[in-house]
Amino acid sequence: MSRRVAIVGAGPSGCFVAQALLKARPELQVDVLDRLPVPYGLVRYGVAADHQGTKAITRQFSRLFERQGARFFGNVAIGRDLTLEALREAYDAVVIATGLAADRRLGVPGDDLAGVYGAGRITRALYEHPDAEPLPPLGPRPLIVGNGNVAIDLLRLLAKTPGELDGSDLGPGPTAWLAGSGIEEITILGRSPASAARFDAVMLKELVRLGGVSISVEDLGTAETEEGTRTLEALAALRGHGTGARRIRFVFARRPLAVEGAGHVTGLLCAAPDGGEERFAATSILTAIGFDGETATAQSGSAVRMAPGLYGAGWFARGPRGTIPDNRADAQALASLILADLDAMPATGQRGELLACLPGVVTYDGWTRIDAAETATPPPGRCRAKIADRAAMLSLAAGGDQKESH
Ligand SMILES: Cc1cc2nc3c(=O)[nH]c(=O)nc-3n(C[C@H](O)[C@H](O)[C@H](O)COP(=O)(O)OP(=O)(O)OC[C@H]3O[C@@H](n4cnc5c(N)ncnc54)[C@H](O)[C@@H]3O)c2cc1C
Repeated sequence: MSRRVAIVGAGPSGCFVAQALLKARPELQVDVLDRLPVPYGLVRYGVAADHQGTKAITRQFSRLFERQGARFFGNVAIGRDLTLEALREAYDAVVIATGLAADRRLGVPGDDLAGVYGAGRITRALYEHPDAEPLPPLGPRPLIVGNGNVAIDLLRLLAKTPGELDGSDLGPGPTAWLAGSGIEEITILGRSPASAARFDAVMLKELVRLGGVSISVEDLGTAETEEGTRTLEALAALRGHGTGARRIRFVFARRPLAVEGAGHVTGLLCAAPDGGEERFAATSILTAIGFDGETATAQSGSAVRMAPGLYGAGWFARGPRGTIPDNRADAQALASLILADLDAMPATGQRGELLACLPGVVTYDGWTRIDAAETATPPPGRCRAKIADRAAMLSLAAGGDQKESH
């Protein structure tokens, strides 16, 4: 009887592990489940709506289900619909690839004031995650804390004119929210010096294409590494860009000390490089400083065995670091470990189906029906009309009409 592997989480790391396993052993039964009715995790709900090229990786993932024989079971959450123990009994190996969903807090007094929002909360709402909270008003002067690509994604989306969002899959609600934001100035502030900022140079260069902004870059400093020099060059090229009404201000080497405000944010107090303190006025603060959650263990690495037959992958195993391609390399190492363990395992007897008989399960065919509905008639300037309502997704997946759910 062929070995069975269950992968919990249909994000990039779960899909890459499934791909690597089936490439090496096409006879394996690989089931990928997700708590959402739709696959692909942060590719759908984190990668920016205006970066459709990055999202094209889903075409590769679809071959996993269409050609390599993996099965998708959406709308199945471990902990809600099924225990991990039941899953482990029914499969020879179980891989946890559930990512990390919680925004890391700033960790300074006042970080729980109204008007402080994690980047994950905002991106989930922008990209219409079914569990997202509503998009909050940001006021005329939002301040983004963070020096990574998620911070740049937020900055770019907040700064774009409506026409610059053409070709994206941003929905009508988020589009109207951005158009009506009334933003005058966006400050993007980092704790490290400019040369140590973790922005990809290519992400910075993209900002030069923004039409409605004027960009200032403060405290560039000097670099000691090649990577730092590349970052500084990209930032220097941005300095003074544009004459648009919406101001973008890059500030570095400021360590947040406290969020200020009585009931609602009015600013951020920081330690300045000269040893003094500096206040930055803000009508909202968006923190893009990483994600938290339950991770595999401290034994992070590319191939994590948490217990016999139980493995961790992707952001769940490694923490919230790394791009989509980084997950592919790790998945290959993990697949080799799983295959070696399976080979050393005694044969198991006949076991019944576990996932297919759960109520409300969305199969891969169900997902293709949702996908077809979303892409059939997108509104002008959009490549997809995302469905955010879980009941509507389930209705479509079951072969019905999305309106039936309302
Ligand atoms: C805002 C943002 C933008 C990004 N942009 C880029 C980019 O442009 N390019 C790039 O290369 N990388 C980008 N990344 C990084 C990239 O998204 C990650 O490297 C990648 O998504 C991690 O994959 P993962 O499978 O570990 O986690 P995820 O993508 O988070 O997938 C986890 C999956 O597990 C599911 N799940 C969670 N809990 C359960 C449960 N209990 N039961 C069942 N299923 C569960 C979730 O629904 C989800 O589908 C971005 C990240 C963020 C946060």
